[in-house]
Amino acid sequence: MSTSRTLHWFRNDLRLDDNPALAEALRSNEVVPVVVLDDRFWSEDRWGHVKTGPFRTRFVLESIADLKAAIEDAGGSLLVRQGRPEEILPSLMEQWGCTTLTAQAEHTPEELDIEAAVARTVQEVGGTARWIEGHTLFHPDDLPMDLDAIPDIFTQFRKKVEKHSEVRECIAAPTALSCPDGLTSDDVPSLNDMLAQTGQTMPPADSRGVLPFKGGASEARARLKHYFWDSKKLAVYKKTRNGLVGADYSSKFSPWLAHGCISPRRIASEVYRFEDNVEANDSTYWLVFELIWRDYFRFIAMKFGSRIFHRKALKPESANRGTQRPAFEAWKEGRTKDAFVNANMRELARTGFMSNRGRQNVASYLVHDLGIDWRLGASWFEHCLLDYDPASNAGNWIYVAGVGNDPRPNRKFNTQRQAEMYDGDGKYQTLWSTDALELDVR
Ligand SMILES: Cc1cc2nc3c(=O)[nH]c(=O)nc-3n(C[C@H](O)[C@H](O)[C@H](O)COP(=O)(O)OP(=O)(O)OC[C@H]3O[C@@H](n4cnc5c(N)ncnc54)[C@H](O)[C@@H]3O)c2cc1C
Repeated sequence: MSTSRTLHWFRNDLRLDDNPALAEALRSNEVVPVVVLDDRFWSEDRWGHVKTGPFRTRFVLESIADLKAAIEDAGGSLLVRQGRPEEILPSLMEQWGCTTLTAQAEHTPEELDIEAAVARTVQEVGGTARWIEGHTLFHPDDLPMDLDAIPDIFTQFRKKVEKHSEVRECIAAPTALSCPDGLTSDDVPSLNDMLAQTGQTMPPADSRGVLPFKGGASEARARLKHYFWDSKKLAVYKKTRNGLVGADYSSKFSPWLAHGCISPRRIASEVYRFEDNVEANDSTYWLVFELIWRDYFRFIAMKFGSRIFHRKALKPESANRGTQRPAFEAWKEGRTKDAFVNANMRELARTGFMSNRGRQNVASYLVHDLGIDWRLGASWFEHCLLDYDPASNAGNWIYVAGVGNDPRPNRKFNTQRQAEMYDGDGKYQTLWSTDALELDVR
C-alpha cells in the first residue's frame, strides 16, 4: 500500500491543540508541516506603514519557535520558509510526494487572493488544496442563518447563535506526528534579520506595558492558567474589563488568538469547566460574549468581502473624511491636544498593545474630532498591534467611524468624559505622560 502524504501549511493556526486543519492532514499516513513567512505581510501599505511592525514580527517568530518545539516533541519536523506560498508550497508537494495540501481557511481579501493563487499552483502540480475552518468559536456551517443573512446588528446575531448554535468539541492535540524520513526542521529566522529586511528596529522594552507578551501556544496556555485557574480573575472579568493599567483587567488573549496559538473553542471550553468547578456568573458569561463579538466581525467580513475595507464601508451615504497628514502624525505620536488619547497612543507605539477602552477612544478621536479617514488609523493599528486581525480591526474601526455595524452610527466618544470615568485618578495618563515619541516608521 502506498503512503499518503499531506502538506500542512500553518497560517494563523500556530498550534497543535484543537486544530481542525491539522487534524484533517493527520488522516493521511504522513504529514509535512510548513510555515511560510510571506513577504507581502512585511511590505509597505498605501499609507506608508510596514504592515507588520517589530512587536508582531517578534511575536510571530516566537510562536513559530514554540510550534517547532511542540512538533519536534511529537516526533516531527517543521519547515520554515520565506517567500510566496504559491511558489513554495507546490514545489514542496512535488519534492515530498504530497497529494493534498491542508490549511486553515481565511476570509479577508488579501488572504483569499493568496489562497486562490495557492489553489491554482497546487492544482498545476496535480495536487488538491483543502481550506478548513478553524478561526471562529462557532463553525460557519453551524450558524442558524446563511452568511448573507447575518444580521447587521450584533445583538440580533448573538441572540440567535446563543439560542440555536452549539460550539463544537475541541480536538485534542496529536501525541505523535509522523513525518517522512529525511524531513528535518529549518531554523526560525532571527528577529534581527526579519527586521533588517524591512529597515525596522526593535524598540527598547518598556516596563509600563500590560504584559511582557511572548508568542506561542505554551505561552497562551500559561496565560489562560494564570487568568482562569491561578488568579481566578475570570470570575471578576466583567467588572474589570474596562481597565487601562496592569496585566489582569482583561484576559489579554487577543495576540494568541490572532495568531492561532490558542483556539476560541479551547478558551470557551475552559470557561465552561470553570463554571462547573469554580463558579458561573456574569463575568464568565461575558468572556464568551466577547468571543462572539470576534466571531461576528469575522462573519461580517465573510458577508461583505472587500466592502469593509472601503472608506464608506457599509454606509455609502456617509460623509467623506480626509487624510490631514500633520494631524495624523501627531495622533500616531501621542501629540494631540487630548492627554487621554496621547497616553493610549504612546502605549500602543511602545508596546504593541492598547486596551479596548483606549482603542475606542483613540479611534473616535481620529475620525470624529480630527475628521480623518478611518483607514489611516486602521493602517497604523495594523502596523503596531500584536493582535492585529483583519476582520476585527476593520470591523471595529468602521463601527466606531459610523460606517459599520453600529446601530447608532453618529455616536462619538467624549474622550475627556471617558478619561474622567475610566482614569479618574489620572494614573494611566501619568504612567504614559512622558516621552513624546520620535517614531521611525517606514
Ligand atoms: C478600533 C479598534 C480596533 C481593534 N482591532 C483589533 C484587532 O486588530 N484584533 C483584535 O483581536 N481585536 C481588536 N479590537 C478589539 C479589542 O479591542 C481587543 O480584542 C481587546 O482589547 C483585546 O484585549 P483582551 O484580549 O484582553 O480582551 P478581552 O476583553 O479579555 O476579550 C476576550 C477576547 O474577546 C475578543 N474581543 C473582545 N472585544 C472584541 C471586539 N471589540 N472585537 C473583536 N473581538 C473582541 C478578543 O479576541 C479578546 O481577546 C479592536 C477594537 C477597536 C475599538
